[in-house]
Amino acid sequence: MTTIYRSTRSNHINMTASQAILQGLSPDGGLFVLRNFPDHHINVADIVNLNYQEMAQTIFRLFLTDFSHDAIKECVQLAYEDKFTTKDITPLKQVGDDFVLELFHGPTNAFKDVALSILPHFMDHSLSIQNEAKKILILTATSGDTGKAALEGFKDNKAIDIMVFFPNEGVSSIQKLQMQTQVGNNLRVCGIDGNFDDAQTQIKQLFNNSEIIAEFDQVNIQLSSANSVNIGRLIPQIVYYFYAYSQLVNNQEIQVDESVDFIVPTGNFGNILAGFYAKKLGLPIRHLVCASNENKVLHDFLQTGIYDARRDFLMTTSPSMDILISSNLERLLFEVSGQDSDLINQWMDKLATHGYFSVDSDTLKEIQQTFRSGYATDEEVKQTIQSVYKEHDYLLDPHTAVAYKVMKEQEEFGYKQIVLATASPYKFTESVLDALNLSEDNATDDLFSRMSLLERETGVPVPDNLAELLELPILFNDCISTEEMSHYVLTHGKGD
Ligand SMILES: *Cc1c(COP(=O)(O)O)cnc(C)c1O
Repeated sequence: MTTIYRSTRSNHINMTASQAILQGLSPDGGLFVLRNFPDHHINVADIVNLNYQEMAQTIFRLFLTDFSHDAIKECVQLAYEDKFTTKDITPLKQVGDDFVLELFHGPTNAFKDVALSILPHFMDHSLSIQNEAKKILILTATSGDTGKAALEGFKDNKAIDIMVFFPNEGVSSIQKLQMQTQVGNNLRVCGIDGNFDDAQTQIKQLFNNSEIIAEFDQVNIQLSSANSVNIGRLIPQIVYYFYAYSQLVNNQEIQVDESVDFIVPTGNFGNILAGFYAKKLGLPIRHLVCASNENKVLHDFLQTGIYDARRDFLMTTSPSMDILISSNLERLLFEVSGQDSDLINQWMDKLATHGYFSVDSDTLKEIQQTFRSGYATDEEVKQTIQSVYKEHDYLLDPHTAVAYKVMKEQEEFGYKQIVLATASPYKFTESVLDALNLSEDNATDDLFSRMSLLERETGVPVPDNLAELLELPILFNDCISTEEMSHYVLTHGKGD
């Protein structure tokens, strides 16, 4: 079996695709990456006529080398046949002279659905390749959207249980309600009185804690991750970069081989890294623009080469991007440093112990060849939602608005710009109403009256699955301190 994956932090840990997907995180704390990336393996002219599902299969074959073509096809069908409300899966909309790639038409109305609709099928199939009798327990930290998308994807899975931890004060009321009302016989949801970074760090420590691993091993359970640290989360996200491009070609907006820019609202650096992988595979991308909210640690890094997380964690109106430790940057650093694990270890140790690290100027220059960056304040997000609605009759959610604002200040003539729209505006109804100045005069505490108000005012329909939340009972009300997480996992993770 070809072990095509290795750890970013050591040359000695090797895995097949199915092993890497089941493990989630490498035991040395690193992330799984391809040893030999299939650079320029895709000629765009060959694939612009494929539909979403066919394109997905073409791309997955390069990454899932121990899956049969039939297995890949089956995973794709199960994920994308009827779970999305558009046949296109990720439709491209024109807004003014620019383009918005809508990634939020899945079961939970955020872009995380694109990957988390298929990851459970990748995992099921990986279990059968590995002939594993073990049960998997997925531990997930969420800044709001991964949690619900993962719950929806894994609910009632026979071989896989899932536990989700979210920042109790750090998600929107709709996001919280979506998770707390989740039905399923294999899952658990818990708030923590910390932020996303606290949850992610705790979970990474659990994965590297040999006593805890052994304790679960005794009862035949293996821990895994549904966060974008899992390579199985990133691979599906590559597809829509190609698909957006093909829609531009097919609408005669660009010639095949013409370069475009993508602007990506960024938190854990997973989505934008998938764009980088698309470029490496051969998609003509000029710039990938990293758009940050006021937690602009990535913007500062991309400008200066200094990654400095020693700053206040801010709560913004784009909560899914409230992150200071962006895990997937490690995968980019691995590529641009020439797969230098020693350097990665130095940088990551420094970050873990001192809260910052800096890269040399050659590395920074290499990164800046492709990556641009900018950020938006909450006030700018508000203004952007308002002006785009007024001028173009298009409703942005706050995360997408961050990217839209950054696009407008970057715009250079002659290149098509595509903003990745990562969530439905209804997931953030309060902030969107506020941006449109509709919250004051129509004050009401009731979330659902507010969604209806937004629908009445804008004519954009409330997604069915959000409208239905009203009728669902709250099933999970636990809230614990960050320190209690490992105890909680041990207590509840073995099946009760
Ligand atoms: C997760 C998320 C992001 C950030 O994506 P990363 O892959 O973590 O960079 C942006 N917007 C929304 C709505 C999200 O849910």
